[in-house]
Amino acid sequence: MTVKQDTLEWNWAGNYSYGATEIHFPTTLEELRSLVAGASAVRALGSRHSFNSLADSDGVLVSLTALEPNIRIDAEAGTVTASAGTTYGVLAAELKRQGYALHNLASLPHISIAGAIATATHGSGDGNGNLATAVVGLSFVDAAGGLHTVSRQQTPDFAAYVVGLGMLGILTEVTLRIEADFMVAQHVYTDLPWDAVLENFDDLTSRAYSVSLFTDWRGDTVGQAWFKQRQGDGRTEEYPASLLGGTAATAQMHPLPGVSAVNCTPQLGVAGNSSDRLSHFRMDYLPSSGNEIQSEYLLPREHARAAITAMRQLSAIISPLLLVAEIRTIAADDLWLSPNYGRDGIGLHFTWRLDQGGVEAVLPLIEEALAPFDARPHWGKVFSSEAGDLAPLYPKFDQFTALAKSLDPTGKFRNDFLNRTVLGQ
Ligand SMILES: Cc1cc2nc3c(=O)[nH]c(=O)nc-3n(C[C@H](O)[C@H](O)[C@H](O)COP(=O)(O)OP(=O)(O)OC[C@H]3O[C@@H](n4cnc5c(N)ncnc54)[C@H](O)[C@@H]3O)c2cc1C
Repeated sequence: MTVKQDTLEWNWAGNYSYGATEIHFPTTLEELRSLVAGASAVRALGSRHSFNSLADSDGVLVSLTALEPNIRIDAEAGTVTASAGTTYGVLAAELKRQGYALHNLASLPHISIAGAIATATHGSGDGNGNLATAVVGLSFVDAAGGLHTVSRQQTPDFAAYVVGLGMLGILTEVTLRIEADFMVAQHVYTDLPWDAVLENFDDLTSRAYSVSLFTDWRGDTVGQAWFKQRQGDGRTEEYPASLLGGTAATAQMHPLPGVSAVNCTPQLGVAGNSSDRLSHFRMDYLPSSGNEIQSEYLLPREHARAAITAMRQLSAIISPLLLVAEIRTIAADDLWLSPNYGRDGIGLHFTWRLDQGGVEAVLPLIEEALAPFDARPHWGKVFSSEAGDLAPLYPKFDQFTALAKSLDPTGKFRNDFLNRTVLGQ
């Protein structure tokens, strides 16, 4: 039986309250289909970890958390299928139990699969595409309540559907590429001089399977560098006491000063299963700070040094509002609305203090500074660009909006955010 909740819900960070006053929790696919068919406006809510109004609906919201994860591994195909509302934490634990793994994870495992792929959520690694790149099949309910399945093998425009912003339908199941589980050891260094980091940027980011740099943009050093070393992948296993002028941490670290490192996945070079190391934060603990807003811009990696330099030059206006910034690398993909579409890139991420007005005032300055580098904002974080700015950055933007209009002619899956940032109306 579908449960209906009338209370207004906030997102995880508490910087946005959803305008939709009803949230439905269908317990069967049939309930979901009839709910969608009967609604004039409906959108899916994942685990509510986005920082803007993307997930909101002008009518009702639907959450898939009452549906069983229903995780099935196809060992021969090298895939796993699960209910779309399943969190990566739940999926990764079951994969680990059966000796498998995903190619990568985001900084936190708490997010739903559907919500994460809808916004092209990513981890780090020169050779690692974002989480949506592991998707090989999707089932979704269309605006009329019909059930569809699309796959990379059989659907010509499959690359349109994966980073779908919830505009094409309500995803019910997702099939993802998996591999044999692998071991990862995390090594953290502190206070690496910026000059050495920029001079050796390519060597640094290719040194490990996944690399993250944490900075407040101020001063002459990068606060922390995290190396997630995949065992046996041919990269160096040498992590000396000093690296590029930085010092190997001798205690477990949290990227944010003052937050307990108990929340973080184990470091200090102790190897563990990939699902216990690829995220920064542990499933049973608070990720990040909790009281925060996030923004992120993805840009081609050839602009890494210039873009980083531009951010350092803005440190006087950025740093007072900032908890921490993170620099990651992401491999190119072919997903139409992915910020990594067609280009290997870097992500410049900002974890802000929970000051919506202050953040909104500074974002246009950051976006202006990053505009020469064709920066694309993360769909699930706070940004100020609109459709007119974004369309030229995505070669398939017009095809995507045409597909969305054909699958959802009455605009049931649209909201103010999508009208402003995607449809330009
Ligand atoms: C502490 C923290 C750390 C983060 N770290 C990272 C990181 O490392 N890398 C990164 O890239 N991002 C990161 N993010 C951002 C986060 O991954 C994205 O905002 C992601 O979209 C959140 O997923 P969700 O399940 O909460 O989705 P929601 O925020 O609930 O929804 C996001 C979008 O997905 C759609 N959606 C959800 N379910 C469905 C469905 N069943 N069918 C169709 N559409 C659906 C919604 O309609 C909406 O458009 C972080 C966020 C937080 C709060």
